[in-house]
Amino acid sequence: MSHLRLNPLTGRWVTIVADRAERPSDFAPRVAQIESGPERPCPFCPGHEEATPSALETVDEGGHWRMRVIPNLYPAFDGDEPFAVHHLGPVHVQAEASGIHEVFVYTPDHEGGVHLSTDDEAGDIMLMLKHRLQEHSAKSHVRYTQVIINHGREAGASLAHPHGQLLGLPFVPGEMIEEERAFTRFEGGCILCATVEAELVDATRVIFATDDAVCISPFWAGAPFELLLIPRSHDLHLTDSSDDTLRAMGIAIRDSLLAMREIHGDIAYNLVFHTAPHHYNGAYHWHVHLFPKLVTTAGFERGTGVMINIVPPEQAAVQLRHVSVRA
Ligand code: AMP
Ligand code: ZN
Ligand code: ZN
Repeated sequence: MSHLRLNPLTGRWVTIVADRAERPSDFAPRVAQIESGPERPCPFCPGHEEATPSALETVDEGGHWRMRVIPNLYPAFDGDEPFAVHHLGPVHVQAEASGIHEVFVYTPDHEGGVHLSTDDEAGDIMLMLKHRLQEHSAKSHVRYTQVIINHGREAGASLAHPHGQLLGLPFVPGEMIEEERAFTRFEGGCILCATVEAELVDATRVIFATDDAVCISPFWAGAPFELLLIPRSHDLHLTDSSDDTLRAMGIAIRDSLLAMREIHGDIAYNLVFHTAPHHYNGAYHWHVHLFPKLVTTAGFERGTGVMINIVPPEQAAVQLRHVSVRA
């Protein structure tokens, strides 16, 4: 069972997970990649459903599952106790890591990936996320749900089979509080509506824009080829968006990954879904960050939070536009 500890220097929570080192990993030890094989079957492949807890939700087709959401066997957040903060001493503040931790196996294909999705499959991934987020928001102890897709060992994935994760947290994490504050402080309407408008006029950082979704290399990109995907409709929560918008965002994510692969091949990446905390009604506009893992952050970035980006976003955008199917 894990728990939370507050870092009094930053005001941010840290999750301490004691027994997670026991988890299986396709990628450990770090130097030699151990792939699943006959002795280590992939728990997320069809035929090995008994290796995972029972599915919470599946999408079936022709008698087989196409997508599966399962409880994480090694949850970092678990249980439905309300959030209670315990002051163990003047600088020791602790809380239970209650919440939800799910794995979203979005394809039965071990060698698949979001980049290989058809339009319908990309749309269905987003509709499944919408449904899971609706379920999470109905739980009173879950304040915010972080959706992520880690791809590749360098991006933190422990299993090679394509999958995402949903982490329902009993608190709103620092990163989200900062974004919320920025939206609240901004005086020109909505930051991301203004970003879409400004970038479409300028065009130098736009990778592609469809009727419903815009993919840019943000002016403030902190890492090479970092991308931002924004739905054009001003929706706070992902769950507020229409199915058409969600489908368009799924396709846009797929297309941005395809463009990235054209340039860099099968690189590791993190897809980070930022949607307003459940029941939050202030200023926000949901979006997706794509962080390709092309460099490692080092002491300066750790020490200051100031990123050094050696590829100007305008330069990344030129290259990505060049190979993009939609540009
Ligand atoms: P990642 O670390 O991003 O590759 O995500 C893989 C997740 O799957 C990890 O959080 C593991 O805890 C979880 N996991 C590993 N094996 C199983 C299993 N058999 N059933 C359910 N979840 C699992
Ligand atoms: Zn597999
Ligand atoms: Zn964000």
